[in-house]
Amino acid sequence: MKVPILLPNVFNYPFTYETDLDLKIGDYVIVPFGKTNSTGVVWDHFEKENQKIYNLKKVIKKLNTKPIKVSTINFLNWFSEYNLTPKGMSLRLHLLSNEAIENFPNSEYQQYNTKQKTNNFVLSEEQKISVDELRQNNSKFRVHVLQGTTGSGKTVVYFNSIKEKITDGYQGLILLPEIGLTFEFEKKFKDFFGFTAAIWHSGITKKNKKIIWSGLASGKIKVVIGARSALFLPFDKLGIIIVDEEHDQSFKQDEGVIYNARDMSISRASFENIPINLVSAVPSIETYENIKKKKYSYSRLISRYKNAQLPNHEIIDLNKYKLLKESWISYKTVEKAKYHLEKGDQVLFFINRRGFSPNVLCKNCFKAFSCPNCSINLVYHKNIRKLLCHYCGFETDLKRECNKNISASCKFVFAGPGVERISEEVKKIFPKYSSLIFSSDTMNKKTSSENLKKIFNNDVQILIGTQLISKGFHFPNLNCIVVLDIDLSSLGHDLRGAEKNLQLYHQLSGRAGRTGKPANIYFQTYNLKSDAISKITNADPFIFLENELLLRKKNNLPPYERFISLIVTSENAKKLEKESYRLKEHLVKNLNCKILGPVNAPIYKIRKNFRNRLLIRSKKTSKIQKHLHLIIKKFKFSNGIKLRVDVDPVNFN
Ligand SMILES: [Zn+2]
Ligand SMILES: [Zn+2]
Ligand SMILES: [Zn+2]
Repeated sequence: MKVPILLPNVFNYPFTYETDLDLKIGDYVIVPFGKTNSTGVVWDHFEKENQKIYNLKKVIKKLNTKPIKVSTINFLNWFSEYNLTPKGMSLRLHLLSNEAIENFPNSEYQQYNTKQKTNNFVLSEEQKISVDELRQNNSKFRVHVLQGTTGSGKTVVYFNSIKEKITDGYQGLILLPEIGLTFEFEKKFKDFFGFTAAIWHSGITKKNKKIIWSGLASGKIKVVIGARSALFLPFDKLGIIIVDEEHDQSFKQDEGVIYNARDMSISRASFENIPINLVSAVPSIETYENIKKKKYSYSRLISRYKNAQLPNHEIIDLNKYKLLKESWISYKTVEKAKYHLEKGDQVLFFINRRGFSPNVLCKNCFKAFSCPNCSINLVYHKNIRKLLCHYCGFETDLKRECNKNISASCKFVFAGPGVERISEEVKKIFPKYSSLIFSSDTMNKKTSSENLKKIFNNDVQILIGTQLISKGFHFPNLNCIVVLDIDLSSLGHDLRGAEKNLQLYHQLSGRAGRTGKPANIYFQTYNLKSDAISKITNADPFIFLENELLLRKKNNLPPYERFISLIVTSENAKKLEKESYRLKEHLVKNLNCKILGPVNAPIYKIRKNFRNRLLIRSKKTSKIQKHLHLIIKKFKFSNGIKLRVDVDPVNFN
């Protein structure tokens, strides 16, 4: 008989094969493809545009893996359509390096099934109510939002709903931003459940991934805690999905196949007909809108652990307490920090820029030091004495012939600070205290647990951190946060700027005062007229989200309209210009939507590729993706032009 087999490649349809085997939809198989063999899956439909069928090749064998469920196939088909990505590429997200993993001996799964002693977690009244609310209607698809102040004990609440599902024989999936997958979280899980969860992220060994993949497919592993890619795993009997920190931008995958893991989890839950819980201190604006429309139900946790208060905030007026030359910490701020340090509190200086200085110029020829591959300034890293590009990894020494004076070198000045520069200043002001830089340059997988321990044990008193530090770490002694320049971090060509600041603020303030001691956040700013600070510091984020939503509605922005970005790239700027306009014309002719652009992207060049952007704005209800897919398919780009489609874009750079 003939069978349709989908392969993990760039094609949007299954290939037809011949077989004598007894194959059913969802079976994993090995088939010949080109000059090699490939893993594939018996799909639910044949290729529709019936091309001529030559002599069909034969399926080589059926794999000893439980077949993929029809609900998962439906999900992957839908995923392709929604994100305008070929079905083969969606299958690729599901397979492990293009393979389906056959079962291991049971002993390999033992580590996830060994029972240990559990700790008793006593729930507050508020938590008990939430546990009950999460339990309602949870035998079918529904979205429930658990909103709770940082430190209010959301984790234990959703652990309870997972526990119930496991007891009923189901599997559970917890999605976290990659950076949140800490040892601390795993330990809490083990303390609560009495067994080890499978951990899934980019740093897991191939062998472990194989065990987890096959263990989930065969139902021998109960719970997986994973970064966004875990949502494509082959669950045998998935019963519940949790998306923790659902607002986090890192759920948006911007490289390769572009998708939003939070939104796709909701769809997967819908196809599997199971409940999903979105968890956050400050829900995303999309989630908030769905709460308002009563599409999602929700619970709220208002009190913090041990009745800890959220930090007080105070504004330090830089017009009054002037900064000295080459200094970014005002003497008023120093006074405040000193007060906390003398009490034994930890102090965090927050600045969202890595390295020493984000901008290096020559004072003779005024030329900035920018990346030869990207249209972006290089960041000077003093500790390694190199200028680095954070986009392409280009690095160079601090040396250049001057345009003004050919025989001489440039005379460099550093404009503005990054964490390293603040660290230098901190060391000068507080020589008695030890300090640590907390950014993605300094906190890699190897050093981070060591450093986290130091912070936890109060071996360092001062932290200088980027927004990395806001991601869910628990620092019991941190009771003072200084935000060095909120003005800068609220700039940018980004419709989500305000929302991001709100989330950042709540995450940051959630780091402080976690053990019930009084805590403070100080904002250094020149801009006293703006009410931005008073807006984001309100203890109830729903007030801010309500206002933000009104603004979005007034301006027809998402979530009221569907945005789709088209990013056209080429190494040839002229060709790019021409092709972008040709694409625009083609779209205007065929698509009944507002189409903006093409414009040069804010970062016009990345890794030697020039970039143009078009933006499609359409009604939420229309099936825009389906039309767009057909229209793009008909359009033939000339050589050397690439197109990426970003549905519901988060970044516009
Ligand atoms: Zn670069
Ligand atoms: Zn120069
Ligand atoms: Zn760096």
